[in-house]
Amino acid sequence: MSLSAGPAGGPVLVVGSVALDSVETPFGRVEGALGGSACYASVAAAFFSPVRMVAVVGEDFSYENVAQLAHHDVDLAGLRRVPGETFRWRGYYDYDLNQAHTISTELNVFEGFRPDLPEHYRHSPYAFLANIDPELQLSVLDQLVRPRLVACDTMNYWIERARDRVLEVLARVDIALMNDAEARQLCEEPNLITAARRILNYGPGIVIIKKGEHGALMLSRESYFSAPSYPLEEVRDPTGAGDTFAGGFLGYLARTGQTDDEALRRAVICGAVLASFTVEDFSLRRLFRLTQEEIVERYDEVLTMIRCGAL
Ligand code: AMP
Repeated sequence: MSLSAGPAGGPVLVVGSVALDSVETPFGRVEGALGGSACYASVAAAFFSPVRMVAVVGEDFSYENVAQLAHHDVDLAGLRRVPGETFRWRGYYDYDLNQAHTISTELNVFEGFRPDLPEHYRHSPYAFLANIDPELQLSVLDQLVRPRLVACDTMNYWIERARDRVLEVLARVDIALMNDAEARQLCEEPNLITAARRILNYGPGIVIIKKGEHGALMLSRESYFSAPSYPLEEVRDPTGAGDTFAGGFLGYLARTGQTDDEALRRAVICGAVLASFTVEDFSLRRLFRLTQEEIVERYDEVLTMIRCGAL
């Protein structure tokens, strides 16, 4: 794999949460650290392609955080700062790091926020509607002019409070990403393959189900792909793994401009590789010090890992 070629497909618009996260895991804790679905997804996608972020922060959001995002080539013309407090999420993980326990979610400035996309954002060919209020995802969709590829994510918080709106989003996107628990909850179905097929019936042509340390599966009406996670022995904080996966996945597709099955499979591996770095440290720390060389090296390792000759 090489990351040297320039973008062929075009920029990725990302809408989602920008958060100040307080997280505790068996391996440490952070208070008010940079997080949110839009941050993880944008920084991951920016390794491959130009990124345009849409979100809102409050007066308590530091200029240092803004500078870090800008430094990682994220276009922040669509990031609004308004009076009030930034979105805050507080959660913890026990030894089962696949299961996040939410202590509190404070929407703060996200409550009532309706984005007005900057003119150059409206023609973005790729869009990722990261986990956030589905009303907001729909409002961004309404403002996009003929995007080539749109993907979305969601979580239990929105499935419980706004299921119908989540279904409306699913009916309008090309690719749906969610984790195993969310897929089961949305479909009220324990079997993941059955749940994935039901999600296909809601509208998207492709469904990707993330299973934490157990990898990810991608399903369309014609094909099936199962990818492993990178076998890490030191996972410190799984927060943001799913968003990073999605950012890496869509960023790669945007860079190549391709959407055939082979490209989609490579994109899944890119997503898994990027996510494996995020979980090595708290907040976006590992992503901020990640290099292109490390991505290529780990991608090649995964390819070696899954190689298997014919019988
Ligand atoms: P992930 O671990 O990939 O599912 O995403 C974790 C990120 O999602 C954290 O940085 C949180 O700030 C953010 N988050 C948590 N709850 C919500 C919510 N209800 N809406 C939007 N973002 C959220």
